[in-house]
Amino acid sequence: MDQAKDGAAERLAEVRKAMMRAKKRFDTSAAPCSLIAVSKTVPGSSLEPYLDAGQRVFGENRVQEAAEKWPALRTQYRDIELHLIGPLQTNKVRDAVVLFDCIQTVDRDKLAASLRAEMDRAGRSLKFFVQVNIGGEAQKHGIAPTEVVDFVGRCRTEHRLDIVGLMCIPPDGLPPGPYFASLVGLARQANVDELSMGMSGDFETAISMGATHVRVGSALFGARAPLG
Ligand SMILES: *Cc1c(COP(=O)(O)O)cnc(C)c1O
Repeated sequence: MDQAKDGAAERLAEVRKAMMRAKKRFDTSAAPCSLIAVSKTVPGSSLEPYLDAGQRVFGENRVQEAAEKWPALRTQYRDIELHLIGPLQTNKVRDAVVLFDCIQTVDRDKLAASLRAEMDRAGRSLKFFVQVNIGGEAQKHGIAPTEVVDFVGRCRTEHRLDIVGLMCIPPDGLPPGPYFASLVGLARQANVDELSMGMSGDFETAISMGATHVRVGSALFGARAPLG
C-alpha cells in the first residue's frame, strides 16, 4: 500500500504547509496549531496510510462509528489522540469517556454532570471544549454566546471539568471571519486558551485569527458521500 501511503503523506504535507503560511500571518511565536484529521465516514483501513505517515490526532463525530474503528487502530499505533467533534447524547457518555481523549461538544449542564460522573466511574480524565452556537442558529448545537462565560465557570467549579477551550462551527455560506473573531473574544472573557475553529474550507482564515486546533476532513481524505 505504498501508493496510498504516499498519497496520504502528500495531502498531509500540503495541509500542513498551508497551515504554516496562515500561521505566519498571525503570530509565529504562539504555540503551534494542532491539525485534527476528521476521519468520519473513512474506514479504518483507509486511515492506516495517514497513521503510517505520522498523523496522530483525529476527530470523529459519532460515538458508535468511533467505537467500531478506533480500538483496533489504537492497539496497532501508539499515542493516538481522539477528539469527539459531534453532538453527544447523555446515553452515549459512558462509551465516549473510554473512547475519546477530548470532547469538544460540551454545551449543557446535564451533559457536563454526566461526563463528571462517568469519568469518576471509569477512572479517566479527559479534556473538554465548550461548543458555542456562534451564529445563534436554531438548528445548531452549542451554548448561546451570551451564556458562555457563566457556563464555562459552572463546568469548572460545579462539574470540575478541565475546560481547555471553545469550539464553533460558523453558519454555512457566510464569511467565517466575524464568527471566528467573536469566538476569540469569548475565549478571552471565559479565560480559556484553546480555540477549535476552521475546517477544510476556512482553516487558513481561522489560523490567521488564532485557532489552536483546526478540524480538517475532506482536504485530507477527499469528499465524503452525503450522509443518509
Ligand atoms: C465534518 C466536520 C469537520 C470537517 O469538515 P471538512 O469540511 O470536511 O473539513 C469539522 N468539524 C466538524 C464539527 C465536522 O462535523
